[in-house]
Amino acid sequence: MGEFELIQRYFCSDELQPARRDVCLSVGDDCALITVPTGKQLVVSVDTSVAGVHFPEDAAPYDIGWRALAVSLSDLAAMGATPAWFTLALTLPEADDPWLEAFARGVSDLARRFGISLVGGDTTRGPLAASVQVHGYVSPGGAWRRNGAKPGDLLYVSGPLGQAAGGLELALSGKIPADSGEARLLQSYLRPEPRFDLLSPLAGRVHAAIDISDGFLADLNHILKASRVGAVLDPARIPVSEELKALFGEEKAFEMAITGGDDYQVCFTVSPKRRLELEVCAEQSHLQLFPVGMITASQGIQGLDHFHRGGFDHFSGKN
Ligand code: ADP
Ligand code: MG
Repeated sequence: MGEFELIQRYFCSDELQPARRDVCLSVGDDCALITVPTGKQLVVSVDTSVAGVHFPEDAAPYDIGWRALAVSLSDLAAMGATPAWFTLALTLPEADDPWLEAFARGVSDLARRFGISLVGGDTTRGPLAASVQVHGYVSPGGAWRRNGAKPGDLLYVSGPLGQAAGGLELALSGKIPADSGEARLLQSYLRPEPRFDLLSPLAGRVHAAIDISDGFLADLNHILKASRVGAVLDPARIPVSEELKALFGEEKAFEMAITGGDDYQVCFTVSPKRRLELEVCAEQSHLQLFPVGMITASQGIQGLDHFHRGGFDHFSGKN
């Protein structure tokens, strides 16, 4: 199968290229041609997933496709952007039909949820890797940046933490999930969900945001550094699921929640004046948000040492 035939067969489906009026020219020419909505800012990000580094070599092709798109989309979601278009640069050791079919289905199942369109890409031979570049838009000034947190802001996370770290341990052990709780952990790692459902309840209310890809403390630190502030955490309010505690014990589950990566939840700050309206909007959207602390003028992260008898000193925000 030639490169062009491969692209035609797997990456030109209606599922991957839903009709969008803003796409003037899609896959097939030297470049795609897109009309950016009038008065909006374009938001762009790219992420590469390499076999054996960002996902296990033997992961299912459906999950590899889903995840490659999901981790890129998560950056748009954490910026408060509306997703619209994406490109895919795929490096493959060989053109394997069932593999490509399942990979493309993983990508398109997620893409279809948000009506986003694959407008181009590149296909090369080599060790398995997928780069997804995502494009979205925001109203000027509406993006949720990392540098906007203010002392006194409330700090929230959008869902339970450590789920993907638990799922990765399950995946690496090769253990078949024993119950629905373990299956949820595995799902969190293999098929993360970009949190575009936060967009409407949070729009106009967020001071700073980041998606949790490297781990809660590591990513919170990016907000704190960029905003030149600190935070005091309330460890008892950090959401840790019952299934994570059941599988790993309370102490390890907590450590996974604050340090484990790959969750793709969003961590954000909001002025305390907006607390009530935020919580009302979240409830109307059937969303659960978790307040986990407060932004402080003094730098570093406080509040963890009491909780675990001083065991978390090394996470005090100095890395
Ligand atoms: P060029 O040599 O101009 O880069 P290519 O042969 O790489 O062109 O690609 C031909 C067309 O197919 C281009 O429009 C490109 O965007 C698209 N394309 C290539 N690979 C992919 C892919 N994996 N997914 C989507 N579109 C692709
Ligand atoms: Mg090319």
